[in-house]
This record gives sequence, C-alpha cells and structure tokens, in this order.
Amino acid sequence: MLSVIIPAYNEEKCIRRVHSAIHSLLVENNIEGEFIFVDDGSSDQTYNIINELSLEEENIVGLHFSRNFGKESAISAGLAAVSGDCAVVIDCDLQHPPEKIIEMYRLWEQGYEIVEGIKKERGQEKKMHSIGAKFFYSVISRMAGFDMSNSSDFKLLDRKVIDVLNKMPERGFFRAISYWVGYNKTSVEYDVAERVDGESKWSAAGLVKYALSNISSYSTAPMQTVTLLGFVMLMISVIFGIWALIDKIVGRALEGMTTVIIITIFIGSIIMISLGIIGYYIARIYEEIKGRPKYIISSTTKSIKKE
Ligand code: UDP
Ligand code: MG
Repeated sequence: MLSVIIPAYNEEKCIRRVHSAIHSLLVENNIEGEFIFVDDGSSDQTYNIINELSLEEENIVGLHFSRNFGKESAISAGLAAVSGDCAVVIDCDLQHPPEKIIEMYRLWEQGYEIVEGIKKERGQEKKMHSIGAKFFYSVISRMAGFDMSNSSDFKLLDRKVIDVLNKMPERGFFRAISYWVGYNKTSVEYDVAERVDGESKWSAAGLVKYALSNISSYSTAPMQTVTLLGFVMLMISVIFGIWALIDKIVGRALEGMTTVIIITIFIGSIIMISLGIIGYYIARIYEEIKGRPKYIISSTTKSIKKE
C-alpha cells in the first residue's frame, strides 16, 4: 500500500482537489493507497474539511496540530502515522504534479528505496526568492557534502527509510536527511505547477530563518570560520603592532590614533559576530536538549480502513 502524506496549512480550498486528483490516479492505476492529511494548526476550515472527507471516503487519516509547527514537523507527524509499504510526501497546493506519484511508485516497485522529486523549473517565483533559493542550496549543498539544488520535499520513501527517519530524534531538514541516510535512490524530474489556490505560506523573513537553521543543523562550518577570522585578525594586528612600534621609535606615535580606533572597532565587530554565531549553535543545542516534541497532535479523525 502507498501512503500519501499531505501537510496542509490554511489550505481549505485545496484539500478536496488534491484528494480527488490523487485518488482517481491511484484507482486508475490499481494502486491501493491511504491519505494522511496533517493539518499544521490551520486557522481556517482545513481540518473540518479533512474531517468531512474522512467520513465520506475510505482510508483517510487527518491529524490536527495544536498550533502551527511548520512543514517539517507536519512531515514528521505524517511519517510517524503511515501504515503503507512506502509513502510519498506531496504539497497540498498541487504544485507537485500528482501524475509523478505513479512514476515514483513504479520505480519503487523496481526496487528503489528513495525516489526524489527534482524540480526542472522552479515555476513562477519572485526574482529575490529564486536568487535566495539558489544561494541557500549552493551553501547547504557544499556544506552538507551532497548536491541538493532543485531538490524538494516531493519524495517517495520505502518503509525501511521511513522507519529510520522515525527513529531520528533530531529536528532535521527532511530534504537533507533523506539524502543523508543513503539507500538506493533515483529521481524523477517534474515541473513546478502554479499554486491552484490560496497563497504561499512563506514570508521572506521566514525563509531566511529556515535557511539559517538548516545550514546550522548540517554543518559547523560557520562556527569554524570564527576561528579563521580570529587568525586573520591576529595577523593583521601583528602587522599593525610592528608598524605602531616603528612609529614610536621614529617619534610619530600620536598620529596612530586613527588606526587604533579602526582596529578597536574592527576587532569589536568580529568578536560580536563570532559570539553571535556561537550563540546560534548554543541555541540549537538548547532546543534539541530540551527534548520537546516536534509537534503536538490535538485531534485525529476517525479513519475508515478498507477490509
Ligand atoms: N505548509 C505547512 N506548514 C507551514 C507552511 C506550509 O504544512 O507552516 C504546507 C502547505 O500547506 C503546503 C506545503 O507545506 O502543502 C508547501 O507550502 P507552500 O505552498 O506555502 O510553499 P511553497 O510552495 O511556496 O514553497
Ligand atoms: Mg506551494
């Protein structure tokens, strides 16, 4: 059985549409499936619609979060709830073409354990957004040591992989973790469609925060740059030190005031940046060590299972 995990945040208009699109595809291709809708603390009718749908149709599970925990958490909750032999994660807004699920499923049948959805075109995006995304992926790909440009959350995972992911306690970045685990993978290219309804849930600030937290969870390189900066500063200050000494010997000492000020400001700012970076990592350690759950499910729909 194929489980379809659909994170949804304020997607009241999309729920039925995405369900019927995927459902009819599965029926056509004779694939048994279940739907897991994870309502990420929506403030609109999303959960009510999921609930209605789960009463009308078979094999639909709806989970409702007590507040908005973010898409990563919604995916984790979905993965913890699957009962299929494999699961596909797909956006609610039909930006990921549902037909590709069938292609992914066929590849899974051939023995692949992870089928990645790779974006061919990034679809209609704001210029800033696509530049930002490009930069983020080039940084994270280099740091994490695998190429993740054009990767997405649209993937199919085998039961084995799901079990591994479910055992990982860290708040990871789903896209990267599924690379990190290894396994036998392949990919399917797709074009990003236009969002059918509603609007993107990401703000610019939200994306920057998301990017920073993912980079820091995959690499300590930013922290090591602090050490490097320290060395560079040390060298510069040795040069300036010698210079200042010569000045003193020659008898031009007072003129050096400007340099002193510049150096003080420069060192001060480097120290502040460094502390900031270290603080950021400490904050992350703190988050993990608190061991709070990644999400809280406040209600679950009654599921009707096929006999
Ligand atoms: N989503 C979510 N929680 C959030 C934000 C988004 O579950 O806090 C879901 C959303 O409902 C959609 C998917 O994640 O199914 C992708 O979101 P969106 O379309 O807003 O992102 P974009 O396509 O612009 O990257
Ligand atoms: Mg979208």
